[in-house]
Amino acid sequence: MHKILVSSCLLGAPVRYDGSGQQLLHPQLIAWQQQERIVAFCPEIAGGLSTPRDPAEIVNGKVITNTGDDVTPEFQLGAKQALRLCQQYNIRFALLKESSPSCGRNTIYDGSHSGIKVVGMGLTASLLEKNGIKVFSEQQMPALVKALA
Ligand code: SF4
Repeated sequence: MHKILVSSCLLGAPVRYDGSGQQLLHPQLIAWQQQERIVAFCPEIAGGLSTPRDPAEIVNGKVITNTGDDVTPEFQLGAKQALRLCQQYNIRFALLKESSPSCGRNTIYDGSHSGIKVVGMGLTASLLEKNGIKVFSEQQMPALVKALA
């Protein structure tokens, strides 16, 4: 059975910038966990950032924190590690947290740190998709279930 890469925060791990998790309580996700099909991963932690950390948004292709630090290298490293993990486990599907500058599949914040979302992808979601791994957000569970069937 195919394994699925899942954003750690969707599994409840307290890895988000503010030290929280955002557990997705979905029966299918719980079933996949019981079948040991889940590979949990947080690209920002893997890229060397700590929790809590300053929130970051994508501005002209770079990832910048709300205090002006350029954290693009850490985000790029996390994305590369996510891809490597997918290749290692032959993972072809990922369930990633929407709107994150790493994990966002369909939307990201606009770079103004004012809560405005725009169409776009986070660095990890984008790199995985470019390499043939199908990425779904937590808002697309029915589509992921269908793709895996
Ligand atoms: Fe969750 Fe992804 Fe952000 Fe890590 S980088 S906290 S897995 S959304």
